Amino acid sequence: MRRFLLSLAILVTLPSAGMADVLGVRSATRGDGIRLVIDLSESSKFRAFELSKPSRVVVDLPKLAWRANALPAKGRGLASIRHGPFRTNAYRLVFDLERAATIESAGLIPGRGSKGKRLVIDLRYGDRPNSKKFGTFEPLENPPPHPPKRTKEWVVMIDAGHGGVDPGTIGVGRVLEKHVNLAVARKVKKLLDSKPGYDVHLTRSKDEFLRLRQRVRLGRESGADLFISIHADAHPDPKVSGASIYTLSEKGSDREAERLARSENAADLIGGAPLEDDNNEVASILIDLAQRETKNQSLAVADDILFALAPTQPLLRSPKRSAGFAVLKAPDVPSVLIELGFLTNRDDARRLSRKKDQDAIASAIATGIIRYFEGANTARSRQDR
Ligand code: ZN
Repeated sequence: MRRFLLSLAILVTLPSAGMADVLGVRSATRGDGIRLVIDLSESSKFRAFELSKPSRVVVDLPKLAWRANALPAKGRGLASIRHGPFRTNAYRLVFDLERAATIESAGLIPGRGSKGKRLVIDLRYGDRPNSKKFGTFEPLENPPPHPPKRTKEWVVMIDAGHGGVDPGTIGVGRVLEKHVNLAVARKVKKLLDSKPGYDVHLTRSKDEFLRLRQRVRLGRESGADLFISIHADAHPDPKVSGASIYTLSEKGSDREAERLARSENAADLIGGAPLEDDNNEVASILIDLAQRETKNQSLAVADDILFALAPTQPLLRSPKRSAGFAVLKAPDVPSVLIELGFLTNRDDARRLSRKKDQDAIASAIATGIIRYFEGANTARSRQDR
């Protein structure tokens, strides 16, 4: 025994990247202990340690092919052998011992064939505790049960409508739409900025005039995954109130909606230059399949934002609408235009100029955006599509 241990002691275990096969497993009782032998097809890292109550020896090897035909019969110091894949990169063998024993040495010696190795583990009977681990292999922990799904940041462009020389709607109490839009846009950005995984931009962060095409271009150039334009509505009837969401229509079907689109699109005329809108170009883009997918995504965003808005904000009757807004015409960026409410309605005008209500509406919009990006697999109502 003593001579054997000495010979084991001079063996050097070379780390190997190769993944060995297990060709056989044997055990033998040897006077005051047990010898475990694992025949491997080639050199391998390993880890061996013992556990008590019941007494057992654990051997971890890098993930391997199990090619051992027969396991040693019960007896020869063993009660049983169990084995199977362990964690992400390992294979584990557990030797249940008939009597408590402690590992004295563990190492590789030449085995079958030119590359073959034997992992020899010698145990001595006795119950003295030994927390030592033999070998250098470390099984990798399993990945966390819910790995983060996102591999990149979501880029969101938030567009506060109007600005500078273009005030937008001038509402009850001379509430200016451009100021409401910017206040809510900033709040949505701040809320999304506080979440991991969002890269949020504003087309304008101050009271300045931007052409509609400039706004669309800023969205596309930032690589936006989503473009959200924020506006507030006007109506000749002061009783009309509530929020609504628009996606781009292929054709003006709703005259009311088109009237609104004309007034929002007129922003560029106020800025002193004609709208750079080429209808032929837009028409050809609209039949593009990419545009169709963008449109589907835009509808999904509209659903998700409406879903979040509904419990907290008054909504216009049939609040999901479509119109030919120039600012929604990026062919490859899902885009929606939110009309926060009617500044021509006394209640809406008061609500939209109050900080507390702006916070609530911004929070609902941010929740809807998060729902769009992160809630694809969660239950969401699709009945209205
Ligand atoms: Zn507007």
